[in-house]
Amino acid sequence: MDYQTIIEKIYRDIQPFLSQGSVADYIPALDRVPLQKFGMAVQELDHRLLSVGDAEEYFSIQSISKAFTLILALQLIGERNLLKRVGLEPSGNPFNSLVQLEHDNGIPSNPFVNAGALVLADILLSHSTDAYGLILDFVRKISGNDQIRSDPAVSVSERETGFRNAALANFLKSCANLDNEVDAVLDLYVFQCALSMRCVDVCQSFLTLANHGQSSVSGRQILSLSQAKRINALMLTCGTYDGVGDFAYRVGLPGKSGVGGGIAAFIPGRLSVTVWSPGLNKNGNSLAGTQALEWFTTQTGMSIF
Ligand code: GLN
Repeated sequence: MDYQTIIEKIYRDIQPFLSQGSVADYIPALDRVPLQKFGMAVQELDHRLLSVGDAEEYFSIQSISKAFTLILALQLIGERNLLKRVGLEPSGNPFNSLVQLEHDNGIPSNPFVNAGALVLADILLSHSTDAYGLILDFVRKISGNDQIRSDPAVSVSERETGFRNAALANFLKSCANLDNEVDAVLDLYVFQCALSMRCVDVCQSFLTLANHGQSSVSGRQILSLSQAKRINALMLTCGTYDGVGDFAYRVGLPGKSGVGGGIAAFIPGRLSVTVWSPGLNKNGNSLAGTQALEWFTTQTGMSIF
């Protein structure tokens, strides 16, 4: 299949969609990213990476980082312990919903809503001596790019204005579902969300999940087959929040989005595809990115269904 020609056509056709979304202005530093940006990268197992547009430009991965911290938390404490503190069900509510968490008595519905990711951050803080180094080292290894860093302008900006996340963290603490101090958990959470990566890095990283947990960079088995299956299933059911039905219907792939406009998607056993376009739809998923992925699965005739 000639993926390069397909993504070049998508790049041309997507242009009118770029101005239709709106950037995540609730994090002031993200409000400055131009709407016209669009990048896309595709990599099949055992093939070279293909890309188009701004695929080599660094962007804020935001909630895509939750897939990385889920892997790390699973490695540190195992599935049974993790599931005492976070659920597995799609929430059907916005990713930063407060109502949902109270309804669920402080057990976040899944690891990808903000409350769930705050619990993951808490686990990393409790079970490693340097949670910041652990995350950074992991993303550098899984992507094969040792230049990756967290952008302090973004983390400071989110930390100063992240009142909802502070509310979620305080509520979790009141339900005894955070072991560390609220401030320490929020600091680590904004650090992971502010990681700057390129489409090519994210695509390479998620190829590991497409490859049933075996790193495409080092060849090392990072996750067991069963863990990879479970994380991939969670991405299908919860990875794009309350837009997950629309995303599954239109795109037909497991994926993880972030309010920086990135979406990482993949076909297990086959390929990884990442898009970045900062304009978001009402669910906080990249509007043009979702459209591009829909065209990609339609034009290649490939999805998981
Ligand atoms: N840092 C963002 C927040 O907490 C991440 C949300 C997202 O990407 N969906 O609001």
